[in-house]
Amino acid sequence: MADKELFSIKMRASKEESGSAKHISGAEKILSEKQVYQCVDSLIERGLHHDKGEADFLNIKLEKVNEDDVLYLDALQVTTIEVDTYKEGLLEIDKFLKEINAPSLDTIMPFIEQTYSMRGAMLLDVKKLIRLEPDLQRGIRATYMDQDRSGSKSISNFKNHYEEAIVLATKVVNCPGIIGEICISDDPNYLTGYVASKDVGYRRITKLKEAGSENGGRIFLFDSDKATPAEAIDFLQKQVVIVKNVTSLDTMERKNPMEVLAKTNERLKENNLFRTMKSISSAQGSHVILDGKEYVLMASNSYLDLTKHPYMIEKTLEAINKYGVGSGGSRLTTGNTSMHDLLEDKIAKFKDTEAAIVFNTGYVANLATISAIMREGGVVFSDELNHASIIDGCRLSKARTVVYKHNDMADLERKILENPCDFGMVVSDAVFSMDGDILNLPEFIRICQKYKLLSMVDEAHATGVIGKTGHGIVEHYELNVTPDILMGTLSKAIGGEGGYVAGSKTLIEYLRNTARGFIFSTSLSPAIMAANLAGIEIIENEPSRVQRLQENVLYFCNCLKEEGLDISSKTAIIPIIIGDEKKAMDVSQKLLENGFFISAIRYPTVAKGQARLRVALMATHTHEELKLAARLIVESMRG
Ligand code: PMP
Repeated sequence: MADKELFSIKMRASKEESGSAKHISGAEKILSEKQVYQCVDSLIERGLHHDKGEADFLNIKLEKVNEDDVLYLDALQVTTIEVDTYKEGLLEIDKFLKEINAPSLDTIMPFIEQTYSMRGAMLLDVKKLIRLEPDLQRGIRATYMDQDRSGSKSISNFKNHYEEAIVLATKVVNCPGIIGEICISDDPNYLTGYVASKDVGYRRITKLKEAGSENGGRIFLFDSDKATPAEAIDFLQKQVVIVKNVTSLDTMERKNPMEVLAKTNERLKENNLFRTMKSISSAQGSHVILDGKEYVLMASNSYLDLTKHPYMIEKTLEAINKYGVGSGGSRLTTGNTSMHDLLEDKIAKFKDTEAAIVFNTGYVANLATISAIMREGGVVFSDELNHASIIDGCRLSKARTVVYKHNDMADLERKILENPCDFGMVVSDAVFSMDGDILNLPEFIRICQKYKLLSMVDEAHATGVIGKTGHGIVEHYELNVTPDILMGTLSKAIGGEGGYVAGSKTLIEYLRNTARGFIFSTSLSPAIMAANLAGIEIIENEPSRVQRLQENVLYFCNCLKEEGLDISSKTAIIPIIIGDEKKAMDVSQKLLENGFFISAIRYPTVAKGQARLRVALMATHTHEELKLAARLIVESMRG
């Protein structure tokens, strides 16, 4: 019957790279003639457009298979072992080796390591511990196998790596002399591997290597008492095998997604890292109402205490009356109002740059800016204590990120020299959000200019706080040069909402045209723009606010010193390191009981074991409040 005729179809795709062919993708199927036609398209698609690159050589080989030669096998049963770390995963391999009476992992591991550089699999004699592959570089390739597709009309998914692995493992463990297989993927993003034997079945282990590692390989464990190497190699390379009843990913025991989430919540609770929120029922200010009780707030980013300033409220209401509330569209469509334009002009003037662009939050400003500017082949040099939004921006860009030691300009320069690139950026917080220290800007700019790298500085905690008149880090150092990209937020000292980037006209035009977080999001309300504008005007018109804040910082640090805590800061952020997460929570709770709201900051906002009180001062805290807070903090830490 024509329908019964089978064909083996094999595809190999490669790419020419520095004079030799780099393997990109491969696949094989055993199909009826009708199915072969459908399959070719998807194999070409798979070969030509692969994550590893676009192939420039594609070989498709079609062979008729004699039905009588086909060995039909039942698929191995699949189980999954969840592990938290790859080290636990390796212990699972050790357990498996015991189950199949093979030598322990200590003995096998050096052989696993040898497979990392191999193309095919290793055939290892587990008794004599010798390798049996005729070509040690190439290794052995198991071939002529597929899952049973006789019942399927359309071959819908040719790309199922998971099912392909079960087919391969089923053939391998049924091979004469082979007692088991170990497989670790070389895909840096795929950490799950498996072990397989006839008795154990196909056992997936969720982590078998470190994230990002390309160290993967495959070992066939061979017992020379049971067969000759030639018999095994012949079977692996020539025997046509069709595997029946392969568990598809859809029918295998999939995890209950909500249970997975609940498990994470439980783990966070066990480690004192679970977050809950307090609900404030008053305006943000140096005093707030929480559960009907008044507290002194010493944890807010509203450093100048502007959120309820009468001028802010007046200007916001004025804008609401004129523009209503929502903006109704993204900036590039219908959501741009004259208030948005006015604010951007104001920011540019305030920051002494040619232009500025407003984003919906500071978080989005970093995410959208870094990812729009940085591209494949480029390098971003990033301070190890940079804010999460910078880290996420780097992750979203296709550039490589190189992290340098905190505020260590010698290390930055070393890393620049070690990581040559033709397009790069250096990015840093101006005032570090959890430590309150200030970037060494003069040296930062000097290095960026020397190596022709874009300089980007995040002024979230600098604007309105440092510099004689609160203009930020450039004023603080009294420099007459500005970083290429001055990013900041309108949500902290300025007292409103939103983020911004200030810089050259070229930069701002580029961001308007390419920054996805700007283009694809409804703009902030014109009323908020008015509030932001008013906030900046107040900073300009009431310089005494900034001075009061700076004076409060000095006073509070002195109070801490008097209480025996030697802590100094030049910014509104004063970290009091406690270390242990639970202790930090307890100290914060005690302060709350004494009328002071000072948040404890824990991992992942800061490193594990670096939990702290993050005191954040306002221009409006009184000396009495600061003195009392210093005393209570020290007492709570002792008790
Ligand atoms: N950068 C830094 C350094 C920050 O601390 C923050 C806010 N915590 C942001 C950016 C994000 O700004 P926003 O809150 O406006 O999203």
